[in-house]
Amino acid sequence: MSTTDKNISVFDVAQVRKDFPILLEKAHGKPLIYFDNAATSQKPQVVIDAISNYYSHYNANIHRGVHFLSQKASNAFDDVRFKVKHFLNSRSEREIIFVRGTTEAINLVASTYGRKNVHAGDEVLITAMEHHSNIVPWQLLCEEKGAKLKVIPMNDSGELMMEELEFLITDKTKIISVVHTSNSLGTINPVKEIIVKAHAKGIPVFVDGAQSTVHSVIDVQELDCDFFAFSGHKMLGPTGIGCLYGKAELLEQMPPYMGGGEMISAVSFEKTTFNEVPFKFEAGTPNIADVIALGVAIDYLMQMDRTEALAHEHELLKYAMHHLSKIEGVRLIGTALNKASVVSFVLKEINAFDAGMYLDTKGIAVRTGHHCTEPIMTRLNIPGTIRASFLFYNTFEEVDALVDHVAKAIAFLKPQHA
Ligand code: PLP
Repeated sequence: MSTTDKNISVFDVAQVRKDFPILLEKAHGKPLIYFDNAATSQKPQVVIDAISNYYSHYNANIHRGVHFLSQKASNAFDDVRFKVKHFLNSRSEREIIFVRGTTEAINLVASTYGRKNVHAGDEVLITAMEHHSNIVPWQLLCEEKGAKLKVIPMNDSGELMMEELEFLITDKTKIISVVHTSNSLGTINPVKEIIVKAHAKGIPVFVDGAQSTVHSVIDVQELDCDFFAFSGHKMLGPTGIGCLYGKAELLEQMPPYMGGGEMISAVSFEKTTFNEVPFKFEAGTPNIADVIALGVAIDYLMQMDRTEALAHEHELLKYAMHHLSKIEGVRLIGTALNKASVVSFVLKEINAFDAGMYLDTKGIAVRTGHHCTEPIMTRLNIPGTIRASFLFYNTFEEVDALVDHVAKAIAFLKPQHA
């Protein structure tokens, strides 16, 4: 089978697209081609309806109300914790904490587990391809504690140099935090291998699943990661909600993150005792509507044939990489062997931002710049990339339009040399 054959997918994209109303929108009068899925995915109608349904029919604060609406809202909210448990295959729903997103999950762990366990002279290990949200919280922690932030380097293709790992993990390493799938390069990192090596020295591993959760089937028990985080908005759910998974024995030892209602067991002016996990980490009224809608997004994903959906994404990736690489003046950035459906590229002598603006006039939404991964750009000595990130609802015809308009953008934007 040819890597460029666009008709090999058995996945019914046309049918799936009907679930996403925004895909019928126009941008600048042209049919919208949405290739900014790594920034945020679009939402199926059922997710949009779940939010409106909650506010229209059973909006109430949860857990402390005896009335009908509060009971209904509480049950709907509590159900989602079980759905996430099932979705990630965690041992218990107690291991699932609702947070605003991946960024908050990392900050939570850095501020609690990190503050408790990382001391002067210790080391925190991350990788060269982290999103800023998996760099800055650890950097803040290291600055506060006098610890050192160390980095697993990557090669020119955007793959981690795993041979360095044995030198980078030392007796001083207190936690390792790695991105599962790079948002800029699409690289799928060998996190399982990192976890095995870390655990051999008793070091816990945090996996940033912001991109991997929608592009793979996650099994935290199989991975044996100690922490895992994802953002709802990147996997068909709403913004402002995400989850932190943590092994119960670690969560239990960690001090609370924020103080307030719900996270307590008893409060007096002399002393407060804390609620059990996961509630210890969920101070205040939670994002009830979006938790419920996240549950619907999970239902949506789980009722799909994910093997087919992921195979379709993979074919889109191969097809796009093949055709883009054939255009003179295009350089692909991130050519790891194990990749999710993210294509980054630069154009010779053309600014990524200008190309992005050009594609926008054709209705094509791509992202340009450093994608919150400035160290990757520094490592590759480029200011930024044009990034097209695909999800299962994208089509080969949309990729054809991208390829066509990238070629036209080069002709249109190319500097005229004297
Ligand atoms: N990690 C990765 C790999 C990401 O791609 C992102 C967002 O793009 C984040 C973390 C942060 O996610 P959020 O902004 O939803 O907290």
